[in-house]
Amino acid sequence: MYIVQIASECAPVIKAGGLGDVVYGLSRELESRGHCVEVILPKYDCMRYDHIWGLHEAYKDLLVPWFGGTVHCSVECGWVHDQLCFFIDDHSDDHYFNRGKVYGDNDDQMRFAFFSKAALEFLLKSGKRPDVIHCHDWQTGLIPVMLFEMYAHHGMANQRVCYSIHNFKHQGSWGEEALIGTGLNRPEYYFQPDRLQDNGNPFAINFMKGGIVYANYVNTVSPHHAWEARFTDIGCGLQPTLAVHQDKFGGILNGINNDIWNPEVDTHIPTHYGLEDFENKALNKKALRDRLLLADNDKPIVAFIGRLDQQKGVHQVHHAIYHSLDNDAQFVLLGSASEPGINDLFQHEKSFLNNNPDCHLELGFDEELAHLIYAAADIMIVPSNYEPCGLTQIISLKYGTVPVVRGVGGLVNTVFDWDYDSEHGQEVRNGFVFYENDSVALESALGRSLDLYHKEPQLFEQLAKQGMRCDYSWHQPGNYYEAVYENIRHK
Ligand code: ADP
Repeated sequence: MYIVQIASECAPVIKAGGLGDVVYGLSRELESRGHCVEVILPKYDCMRYDHIWGLHEAYKDLLVPWFGGTVHCSVECGWVHDQLCFFIDDHSDDHYFNRGKVYGDNDDQMRFAFFSKAALEFLLKSGKRPDVIHCHDWQTGLIPVMLFEMYAHHGMANQRVCYSIHNFKHQGSWGEEALIGTGLNRPEYYFQPDRLQDNGNPFAINFMKGGIVYANYVNTVSPHHAWEARFTDIGCGLQPTLAVHQDKFGGILNGINNDIWNPEVDTHIPTHYGLEDFENKALNKKALRDRLLLADNDKPIVAFIGRLDQQKGVHQVHHAIYHSLDNDAQFVLLGSASEPGINDLFQHEKSFLNNNPDCHLELGFDEELAHLIYAAADIMIVPSNYEPCGLTQIISLKYGTVPVVRGVGGLVNTVFDWDYDSEHGQEVRNGFVFYENDSVALESALGRSLDLYHKEPQLFEQLAKQGMRCDYSWHQPGNYYEAVYENIRHK
Protein backbone atom coordinates (compact mmCIF):
# COMPACT_ATOMS: atom_id res chain seq x y z
CA MET A 1 0.00 0.00 0.00
CA TYR A 2 0.96 3.60 -0.48
CA ILE A 3 0.39 5.46 2.79
CA VAL A 4 0.85 9.14 3.50
CA GLN A 5 0.93 10.34 7.08
CA ILE A 6 0.05 13.98 7.65
CA ALA A 7 0.85 15.30 11.10
CA SER A 8 2.17 18.24 13.08
CA GLU A 9 5.05 16.21 14.61
CA CYS A 10 7.48 13.49 13.65
CA ALA A 11 10.34 12.43 15.94
CA PRO A 12 13.13 13.27 16.13
CA VAL A 13 12.93 16.34 13.88
CA ILE A 14 9.96 17.86 15.59
CA LYS A 15 8.54 16.35 18.75
CA ALA A 16 6.51 17.84 21.56
CA GLY A 17 5.32 14.49 22.94
CA GLY A 18 4.20 10.99 22.04
CA LEU A 19 2.58 12.01 18.74
CA GLY A 20 6.01 12.57 17.23
CA ASP A 21 7.21 9.12 18.34
CA VAL A 22 4.10 7.47 16.94
CA VAL A 23 4.26 9.08 13.50
CA TYR A 24 7.89 8.07 13.09
CA GLY A 25 7.62 4.62 14.70
CA LEU A 26 4.50 3.55 12.83
CA SER A 27 5.93 4.77 9.51
CA ARG A 28 9.07 2.70 10.03
CA GLU A 29 7.07 -0.38 10.96
CA LEU A 30 4.87 -0.08 7.88
CA GLU A 31 7.88 0.39 5.61
CA SER A 32 9.54 -2.68 7.08
CA ARG A 33 6.46 -4.61 5.92
CA GLY A 34 6.98 -3.44 2.35
CA HIS A 35 4.53 -0.55 2.22
CA CYS A 36 5.53 2.81 0.79
CA VAL A 37 5.18 5.49 3.46
CA GLU A 38 5.67 9.24 3.19
CA VAL A 39 5.19 11.84 5.90
CA ILE A 40 4.02 15.43 5.33
CA LEU A 41 4.91 18.03 7.97
CA PRO A 42 5.06 21.80 8.23
CA LYS A 43 8.54 23.20 7.69
CA TYR A 44 9.04 24.75 11.12
CA ASP A 45 11.98 27.00 11.86
CA CYS A 46 12.51 25.17 15.16
CA MET A 47 13.05 21.66 13.73
CA ARG A 48 16.12 19.55 14.47
CA TYR A 49 17.65 20.05 11.01
CA ASP A 50 20.62 17.93 12.10
CA HIS A 51 18.28 14.92 11.82
CA ILE A 52 17.35 15.57 8.17
CA TRP A 53 19.51 14.32 5.35
CA GLY A 54 19.47 15.48 1.74
CA LEU A 55 16.94 18.26 2.20
CA HIS A 56 16.05 19.62 -1.24
CA GLU A 57 13.22 21.29 -3.09
CA ALA A 58 10.54 18.82 -4.17
CA TYR A 59 7.88 21.22 -5.45
CA LYS A 60 8.72 24.78 -6.33
CA ASP A 61 5.61 26.93 -6.59
CA LEU A 62 2.74 25.43 -4.65
CA LEU A 63 -0.06 27.99 -4.78
CA VAL A 64 -2.45 27.13 -1.98
CA PRO A 65 -5.99 28.55 -2.24
CA TRP A 66 -6.71 30.48 0.93
CA PHE A 67 -9.49 33.00 1.61
CA GLY A 68 -10.29 33.34 -2.06
CA GLY A 69 -6.68 34.18 -3.00
CA THR A 70 -3.56 32.02 -2.95
CA VAL A 71 -0.58 31.63 -0.64
CA HIS A 72 2.77 30.87 -2.15
CA CYS A 73 4.41 27.77 -0.66
CA SER A 74 7.18 25.44 -1.64
CA VAL A 75 7.75 21.86 -0.54
CA GLU A 76 11.07 20.42 0.50
CA CYS A 77 11.88 16.82 0.98
CA GLY A 78 14.51 14.91 2.92
CA TRP A 79 15.23 11.79 4.93
CA VAL A 80 14.59 11.80 8.64
CA HIS A 81 16.87 8.89 9.37
CA ASP A 82 15.31 6.32 7.03
CA GLN A 83 11.95 8.01 6.63
CA LEU A 84 11.09 10.15 3.61
CA CYS A 85 9.43 13.38 4.74
CA PHE A 86 7.99 16.36 2.88
CA PHE A 87 8.03 19.76 4.53
CA ILE A 88 5.59 22.48 3.56
CA ASP A 89 7.18 25.88 3.63
CA ASP A 90 4.77 28.80 3.59
CA HIS A 91 6.01 32.13 2.27
CA SER A 92 3.08 34.20 3.50
CA ASP A 93 3.38 37.22 5.74
CA ASP A 94 1.73 35.16 8.48
CA HIS A 95 4.83 32.96 8.75
CA TYR A 96 2.63 30.18 10.00
CA PHE A 97 5.46 27.77 10.74
CA ASN A 98 8.21 30.21 11.70
CA ARG A 99 7.14 30.97 15.23
CA GLY A 100 10.03 29.39 17.12
CA LYS A 101 7.63 26.80 18.57
CA VAL A 102 5.13 24.23 17.37
CA TYR A 103 2.02 25.11 19.41
CA GLY A 104 0.81 27.84 21.67
CA ASP A 105 -0.09 30.78 19.41
CA ASN A 106 -3.49 32.44 19.31
CA ASP A 107 -3.98 31.54 15.66
CA ASP A 108 -2.99 27.85 16.00
CA GLN A 109 -6.31 26.73 14.49
CA MET A 110 -5.75 28.83 11.38
CA ARG A 111 -2.11 27.72 11.15
CA PHE A 112 -3.03 24.05 11.07
CA ALA A 113 -6.13 24.55 8.93
CA PHE A 114 -3.75 26.11 6.45
CA PHE A 115 -1.27 23.25 6.81
CA SER A 116 -4.06 20.71 6.18
CA LYS A 117 -5.16 22.58 3.08
CA ALA A 118 -1.59 22.90 1.80
CA ALA A 119 -0.89 19.18 2.37
CA LEU A 120 -3.93 18.17 0.30
CA GLU A 121 -3.07 20.71 -2.38
CA PHE A 122 0.43 19.23 -2.55
CA LEU A 123 -0.96 15.72 -3.01
CA LEU A 124 -3.36 16.93 -5.68
CA LYS A 125 -0.89 18.95 -7.70
CA SER A 126 2.06 16.58 -7.42
CA GLY A 127 -0.11 13.70 -8.62
CA LYS A 128 0.37 11.68 -5.44
CA ARG A 129 -2.57 9.35 -4.90
CA PRO A 130 -2.01 7.33 -1.71
CA ASP A 131 -4.27 4.42 -0.89
CA VAL A 132 -4.55 5.71 2.66
CA ILE A 133 -4.02 9.11 4.23
CA HIS A 134 -3.35 8.71 7.93
CA CYS A 135 -3.82 11.91 9.86
CA HIS A 136 -3.49 12.71 13.52
CA ASP A 137 -5.17 14.85 16.18
CA TRP A 138 -7.11 18.10 15.80
CA GLN A 139 -4.43 19.75 13.71
CA THR A 140 -5.33 17.58 10.72
CA GLY A 141 -9.02 16.95 11.49
CA LEU A 142 -10.12 19.04 8.51
CA ILE A 143 -8.26 16.80 6.06
CA PRO A 144 -10.99 14.15 5.63
CA VAL A 145 -13.60 16.93 5.52
CA MET A 146 -11.82 18.70 2.67
CA LEU A 147 -10.92 15.44 0.96
CA PHE A 148 -14.47 14.17 0.74
CA GLU A 149 -16.24 17.51 0.27
CA MET A 150 -13.81 19.08 -2.22
CA TYR A 151 -10.81 17.09 -3.41
CA ALA A 152 -12.79 13.95 -4.22
CA HIS A 153 -14.34 15.98 -7.02
CA HIS A 154 -10.92 16.93 -8.39
CA GLY A 155 -9.42 13.50 -8.94
CA MET A 156 -8.96 12.25 -5.38
CA ALA A 157 -12.06 10.09 -5.04
CA ASN A 158 -10.14 6.89 -4.26
CA GLN A 159 -8.23 8.03 -1.21
CA ARG A 160 -9.28 6.77 2.22
CA VAL A 161 -8.56 8.27 5.64
CA CYS A 162 -7.55 6.76 8.95
CA TYR A 163 -7.78 9.38 11.71
CA SER A 164 -5.96 8.83 15.02
CA ILE A 165 -6.79 10.80 18.14
CA HIS A 166 -3.94 11.12 20.61
CA ASN A 167 -5.61 13.59 22.95
CA PHE A 168 -9.31 14.45 23.22
CA LYS A 169 -8.57 17.50 25.35
CA HIS A 170 -7.42 19.59 22.41
CA GLN A 171 -10.03 19.53 19.66
CA GLY A 172 -9.44 22.71 17.68
CA SER A 173 -12.55 24.85 17.80
CA TRP A 174 -12.84 27.93 15.64
CA GLY A 175 -15.42 30.10 13.89
CA GLU A 176 -16.60 30.46 10.34
CA GLU A 177 -13.21 31.89 9.34
CA ALA A 178 -11.60 28.43 9.20
CA LEU A 179 -14.27 27.29 6.74
CA ILE A 180 -13.94 30.33 4.53
CA GLY A 181 -10.13 30.17 4.61
CA THR A 182 -10.00 26.55 3.48
CA GLY A 183 -12.70 27.01 0.84
CA LEU A 184 -15.25 24.94 2.75
CA ASN A 185 -17.75 27.70 2.20
CA ARG A 186 -21.43 27.16 3.01
CA PRO A 187 -21.17 27.61 6.82
CA GLU A 188 -24.87 26.70 7.18
CA TYR A 189 -24.04 23.23 5.80
CA TYR A 190 -21.13 22.59 8.19
CA PHE A 191 -22.65 24.22 11.28
CA GLN A 192 -24.87 21.18 11.82
CA PRO A 193 -24.82 18.80 14.82
CA ASP A 194 -24.12 15.84 12.54
CA ARG A 195 -21.24 17.63 10.80
CA LEU A 196 -18.72 20.05 12.30
CA GLN A 197 -20.71 22.07 14.81
CA ASP A 198 -19.03 21.91 18.21
CA ASN A 199 -21.10 19.85 20.66
CA GLY A 200 -20.63 22.46 23.41
CA ASN A 201 -20.52 25.73 21.48
CA PRO A 202 -23.00 26.12 18.62
CA PHE A 203 -21.04 29.08 17.23
CA ALA A 204 -17.85 27.10 16.67
CA ILE A 205 -16.81 24.35 14.32
CA ASN A 206 -14.75 21.55 15.80
CA PHE A 207 -11.83 20.18 13.76
CA MET A 208 -11.64 16.89 15.67
CA LYS A 209 -15.34 16.29 15.29
CA GLY A 210 -14.89 16.86 11.55
CA GLY A 211 -12.19 14.19 11.54
CA ILE A 212 -14.45 11.73 13.35
CA VAL A 213 -17.48 12.37 11.15
CA TYR A 214 -15.66 12.21 7.81
CA ALA A 215 -12.78 9.72 8.24
CA ASN A 216 -13.24 6.13 7.13
CA TYR A 217 -11.76 4.83 10.37
CA VAL A 218 -11.13 6.58 13.68
CA ASN A 219 -9.08 5.36 16.58
CA THR A 220 -7.59 6.52 19.78
CA VAL A 221 -4.36 5.07 21.07
CA SER A 222 -5.39 2.35 23.52
CA PRO A 223 -8.41 0.11 23.98
CA HIS A 224 -9.13 1.36 27.49
CA HIS A 225 -8.98 5.00 26.44
CA ALA A 226 -11.37 4.25 23.57
CA TRP A 227 -13.84 3.02 26.18
CA GLU A 228 -13.21 6.05 28.44
CA ALA A 229 -13.73 8.45 25.53
CA ARG A 230 -17.05 6.88 24.60
CA PHE A 231 -18.52 6.43 28.04
CA THR A 232 -16.99 9.03 30.37
CA ASP A 233 -16.29 12.76 30.30
CA ILE A 234 -12.76 11.92 29.11
CA GLY A 235 -14.36 12.23 25.65
CA CYS A 236 -14.51 15.99 26.36
CA GLY A 237 -17.94 16.44 24.80
CA LEU A 238 -17.39 14.16 21.80
CA GLN A 239 -19.13 11.13 23.39
CA PRO A 240 -22.35 11.55 21.36
CA THR A 241 -20.37 11.86 18.13
CA LEU A 242 -18.37 8.73 18.96
CA ALA A 243 -21.62 6.91 19.74
CA VAL A 244 -23.02 7.77 16.31
CA HIS A 245 -19.79 6.59 14.67
CA GLN A 246 -19.10 3.66 16.99
CA ASP A 247 -18.89 1.15 14.13
CA LYS A 248 -15.77 2.80 12.76
CA PHE A 249 -14.15 3.68 16.11
CA GLY A 250 -11.60 1.63 18.06
CA GLY A 251 -8.49 1.70 20.23
CA ILE A 252 -5.04 0.65 19.02
CA LEU A 253 -2.17 0.73 21.49
CA ASN A 254 0.96 2.63 20.46
CA GLY A 255 4.25 0.82 20.17
CA ILE A 256 7.85 1.94 20.56
CA ASN A 257 10.56 1.81 17.97
CA ASN A 258 13.07 -0.92 18.80
CA ASP A 259 16.02 0.83 17.13
CA ILE A 260 15.55 3.98 19.18
CA TRP A 261 14.21 2.75 22.50
CA ASN A 262 16.36 -0.24 23.24
CA PRO A 263 19.07 -0.42 25.94
CA GLU A 264 21.00 -2.95 23.86
CA VAL A 265 21.69 -0.46 21.06
CA ASP A 266 20.78 2.98 22.41
CA THR A 267 23.39 5.47 21.19
CA HIS A 268 22.60 7.96 23.95
CA ILE A 269 23.60 5.78 26.90
CA PRO A 270 27.17 5.04 27.97
CA THR A 271 26.68 1.31 28.66
CA HIS A 272 24.44 -1.06 26.77
CA TYR A 273 22.62 -3.83 28.61
CA GLY A 274 19.88 -6.38 28.17
CA LEU A 275 18.38 -9.29 30.09
CA GLU A 276 21.65 -11.20 29.97
CA ASP A 277 23.83 -8.43 31.37
CA PHE A 278 21.26 -6.53 33.40
CA GLU A 279 23.92 -5.63 35.98
CA ASN A 280 25.30 -3.11 33.45
CA LYS A 281 22.24 -0.95 34.03
CA ALA A 282 24.01 0.13 37.24
CA LEU A 283 26.78 1.75 35.17
CA ASN A 284 24.20 4.04 33.58
CA LYS A 285 22.91 4.88 37.04
CA LYS A 286 26.43 5.88 37.99
CA ALA A 287 26.76 7.96 34.79
CA LEU A 288 23.50 9.81 35.49
CA ARG A 289 24.59 10.53 39.05
CA ASP A 290 27.92 11.86 37.82
CA ARG A 291 26.20 14.04 35.26
CA LEU A 292 23.64 15.47 37.67
CA LEU A 293 26.01 15.61 40.67
CA LEU A 294 23.92 13.19 42.70
CA ALA A 295 25.32 11.21 45.62
CA ASP A 296 26.55 7.72 44.79
CA ASN A 297 24.74 5.69 47.46
CA ASP A 298 22.59 2.57 47.59
CA LYS A 299 19.27 4.37 47.16
CA PRO A 300 16.97 3.72 44.22
CA ILE A 301 16.39 6.50 41.67
CA VAL A 302 12.74 7.40 41.18
CA ALA A 303 12.17 9.41 37.99
CA PHE A 304 9.55 11.38 36.11
CA ILE A 305 9.80 12.35 32.44
CA GLY A 306 7.04 14.26 30.73
CA ARG A 307 5.14 17.43 30.11
CA LEU A 308 4.42 19.21 33.37
CA ASP A 309 0.73 19.89 33.00
CA GLN A 310 -2.58 18.96 34.58
CA GLN A 311 -2.91 15.88 32.36
CA LYS A 312 0.27 14.41 33.80
CA GLY A 313 -0.85 14.92 37.42
CA VAL A 314 1.63 17.64 38.38
CA HIS A 315 0.42 17.82 41.96
CA GLN A 316 1.12 14.09 42.32
CA VAL A 317 4.56 14.48 40.72
CA HIS A 318 5.31 17.23 43.18
CA HIS A 319 4.18 15.01 46.04
CA ALA A 320 6.22 12.06 44.77
CA ILE A 321 9.43 14.10 44.91
CA TYR A 322 9.10 14.66 48.64
CA HIS A 323 7.75 11.21 49.36
CA SER A 324 10.76 9.64 47.63
CA LEU A 325 13.26 11.87 49.42
CA ASP A 326 11.62 11.02 52.76
CA ASN A 327 11.76 7.30 52.04
CA ASP A 328 15.35 6.61 51.26
CA ALA A 329 15.21 7.27 47.53
CA GLN A 330 16.66 9.77 45.06
CA PHE A 331 14.47 11.67 42.62
CA VAL A 332 15.19 12.90 39.08
CA LEU A 333 12.70 14.92 37.05
CA LEU A 334 12.91 15.93 33.40
CA GLY A 335 9.95 18.00 32.29
CA SER A 336 8.79 21.10 30.57
CA ALA A 337 5.84 23.26 31.55
CA SER A 338 4.04 25.49 29.10
CA GLU A 339 1.80 27.03 31.78
CA PRO A 340 3.64 29.87 33.54
CA GLY A 341 2.18 29.00 36.97
CA ILE A 342 3.41 25.41 36.82
CA ASN A 343 6.76 26.46 35.42
CA ASP A 344 7.21 28.96 38.27
CA LEU A 345 6.36 26.29 40.86
CA PHE A 346 8.96 23.85 39.56
CA GLN A 347 11.56 26.60 39.03
CA HIS A 348 11.07 27.49 42.66
CA GLU A 349 11.41 23.86 43.80
CA LYS A 350 14.47 23.44 41.66
CA SER A 351 16.17 26.49 43.16
CA PHE A 352 16.66 24.70 46.45
CA LEU A 353 16.05 20.99 45.72
CA ASN A 354 19.00 20.83 43.34
CA ASN A 355 21.24 21.50 46.34
CA ASN A 356 20.05 18.20 47.76
CA PRO A 357 22.51 15.43 46.77
CA ASP A 358 19.55 13.08 46.27
CA CYS A 359 17.48 15.23 43.95
CA HIS A 360 17.72 16.85 40.55
CA LEU A 361 15.02 18.68 38.60
CA GLU A 362 15.81 19.46 34.95
CA LEU A 363 13.29 21.82 33.35
CA GLY A 364 13.19 21.75 29.56
CA PHE A 365 13.09 19.25 26.72
CA ASP A 366 16.18 17.08 26.33
CA GLU A 367 15.88 13.93 24.23
CA GLU A 368 19.39 12.66 25.02
CA LEU A 369 19.03 13.10 28.77
CA ALA A 370 15.65 11.32 28.62
CA HIS A 371 17.39 8.20 27.23
CA LEU A 372 19.95 8.24 30.03
CA ILE A 373 17.27 8.62 32.69
CA TYR A 374 15.25 5.68 31.32
CA ALA A 375 18.43 3.58 31.45
CA ALA A 376 19.57 4.80 34.87
CA ALA A 377 16.41 5.01 36.98
CA ASP A 378 14.99 2.14 39.02
CA ILE A 379 11.40 3.39 39.19
CA MET A 380 9.38 5.65 36.86
CA ILE A 381 6.24 7.37 38.09
CA VAL A 382 3.33 8.14 35.76
CA PRO A 383 0.55 9.56 37.97
CA SER A 384 -1.57 10.94 35.11
CA ASN A 385 -5.07 12.37 35.46
CA TYR A 386 -5.78 10.79 32.09
CA GLU A 387 -3.46 9.10 29.63
CA PRO A 388 -4.58 8.12 26.10
CA CYS A 389 -1.71 5.63 25.76
CA GLY A 390 1.42 6.86 27.51
CA LEU A 391 4.85 6.09 26.21
CA THR A 392 6.99 6.78 29.26
CA GLN A 393 5.80 3.62 31.05
CA ILE A 394 6.30 1.54 27.89
CA ILE A 395 9.82 2.88 27.36
CA SER A 396 10.58 2.33 31.06
CA LEU A 397 9.54 -1.32 30.82
CA LYS A 398 11.92 -1.80 27.92
CA TYR A 399 14.75 -0.34 30.02
CA GLY A 400 14.03 -2.44 33.10
CA THR A 401 12.79 0.60 35.00
CA VAL A 402 9.75 -0.35 37.05
CA PRO A 403 6.68 1.83 36.34
CA VAL A 404 4.40 3.07 39.11
CA VAL A 405 1.30 4.33 37.33
CA ARG A 406 -2.23 5.50 37.86
CA GLY A 407 -4.73 3.01 36.39
CA VAL A 408 -6.20 5.13 33.58
CA GLY A 409 -6.22 4.94 29.77
CA GLY A 410 -3.36 3.09 28.13
CA LEU A 411 -1.63 2.64 31.49
CA VAL A 412 -4.28 0.03 32.30
CA ASN A 413 -3.48 -1.85 29.09
CA THR A 414 0.29 -1.92 29.67
CA VAL A 415 1.11 -2.09 33.40
CA PHE A 416 -0.01 -4.97 35.62
CA ASP A 417 0.30 -4.67 39.37
CA TRP A 418 2.89 -6.89 41.03
CA ASP A 419 0.75 -7.55 44.11
CA TYR A 420 -2.86 -7.20 43.07
CA ASP A 421 -3.44 -7.81 39.37
CA SER A 422 -6.24 -10.31 39.04
CA GLU A 423 -6.02 -10.94 35.29
CA HIS A 424 -2.31 -11.58 34.78
CA GLY A 425 -0.17 -14.28 36.32
CA GLN A 426 2.70 -13.33 38.63
CA GLU A 427 5.24 -14.09 35.89
CA VAL A 428 3.96 -11.33 33.58
CA ARG A 429 3.25 -8.61 36.11
CA ASN A 430 5.47 -5.64 35.51
CA GLY A 431 4.82 -2.67 37.80
CA PHE A 432 2.64 -1.01 40.40
CA VAL A 433 -0.78 0.54 39.84
CA PHE A 434 -2.92 2.88 41.92
CA TYR A 435 -6.37 4.18 41.06
CA GLU A 436 -7.55 7.02 43.29
CA ASN A 437 -6.20 10.39 42.25
CA ASP A 438 -4.83 11.35 45.66
CA SER A 439 -1.56 11.34 47.52
CA VAL A 440 -2.53 8.41 49.75
CA ALA A 441 -2.96 6.13 46.74
CA LEU A 442 0.27 7.35 45.16
CA GLU A 443 2.18 6.85 48.42
CA SER A 444 0.82 3.36 48.75
CA ALA A 445 1.94 2.22 45.27
CA LEU A 446 5.25 4.09 45.36
CA GLY A 447 5.78 2.77 48.89
CA ARG A 448 5.26 -0.81 47.73
CA SER A 449 7.83 -0.34 44.97
CA LEU A 450 10.38 1.17 47.36
CA ASP A 451 9.75 -1.57 49.90
CA LEU A 452 10.39 -4.25 47.31
CA TYR A 453 13.59 -2.49 46.20
CA HIS A 454 14.94 -2.18 49.74
CA LYS A 455 13.71 -5.43 51.27
CA GLU A 456 13.57 -7.90 48.38
CA PRO A 457 16.20 -6.75 45.86
CA GLN A 458 16.12 -10.06 43.99
CA LEU A 459 12.38 -9.90 43.53
CA PHE A 460 12.68 -6.27 42.44
CA GLU A 461 15.19 -7.32 39.78
CA GLN A 462 12.89 -10.12 38.68
CA LEU A 463 10.06 -7.61 38.31
CA ALA A 464 12.25 -5.24 36.28
CA LYS A 465 13.26 -8.12 33.99
CA GLN A 466 9.65 -9.19 33.53
CA GLY A 467 9.00 -5.67 32.25
CA MET A 468 11.85 -5.98 29.77
CA ARG A 469 10.29 -9.15 28.37
CA CYS A 470 7.02 -7.39 27.48
CA ASP A 471 6.64 -6.85 23.76
CA TYR A 472 5.41 -3.32 23.20
CA SER A 473 7.12 -2.94 19.86
CA TRP A 474 5.23 -1.78 16.78
CA HIS A 475 4.75 -5.36 15.64
CA GLN A 476 1.23 -5.92 17.01
CA PRO A 477 -0.04 -2.34 16.47
CA GLY A 478 1.41 -2.62 12.94
CA ASN A 479 -0.80 -5.66 12.34
CA TYR A 480 -3.85 -3.74 13.51
CA TYR A 481 -3.19 -0.64 11.39
CA GLU A 482 -2.41 -2.79 8.37
CA ALA A 483 -5.76 -4.55 8.80
CA VAL A 484 -7.55 -1.19 9.18
CA TYR A 485 -5.95 0.19 6.01
CA GLU A 486 -6.78 -2.96 4.05
CA ASN A 487 -10.32 -2.76 5.25
CA ILE A 488 -10.98 0.89 4.42
CA ARG A 489 -9.22 0.95 1.07
CA HIS A 490 -11.77 -1.51 -0.33
CA LYS A 491 -14.75 0.54 0.84
P1 ADP B 1 2.40 12.92 25.72
O1 ADP B 1 2.31 12.56 24.27
O2 ADP B 1 1.08 13.09 26.39
O3 ADP B 1 3.31 14.06 25.98
P2 ADP B 1 3.60 10.28 26.07
O4 ADP B 1 3.93 9.52 27.31
O5 ADP B 1 2.69 9.62 25.10
O6 ADP B 1 3.05 11.70 26.52
O7 ADP B 1 4.94 10.61 25.26
C1 ADP B 1 5.92 11.41 25.81
C2 ADP B 1 7.18 11.32 24.96
O8 ADP B 1 7.89 12.55 25.05
C3 ADP B 1 8.13 10.24 25.43
O9 ADP B 1 8.94 9.82 24.35
C4 ADP B 1 8.98 11.02 26.46
O10 ADP B 1 10.24 10.41 26.66
C5 ADP B 1 9.12 12.34 25.76
N1 ADP B 1 9.31 13.50 26.64
C6 ADP B 1 8.36 14.12 27.40
N2 ADP B 1 8.89 15.16 28.05
C7 ADP B 1 10.19 15.21 27.71
C8 ADP B 1 11.27 16.08 28.05
N3 ADP B 1 11.10 17.11 28.88
N4 ADP B 1 12.48 15.84 27.50
C9 ADP B 1 12.65 14.79 26.66
N5 ADP B 1 11.69 13.93 26.30
C10 ADP B 1 10.47 14.15 26.81
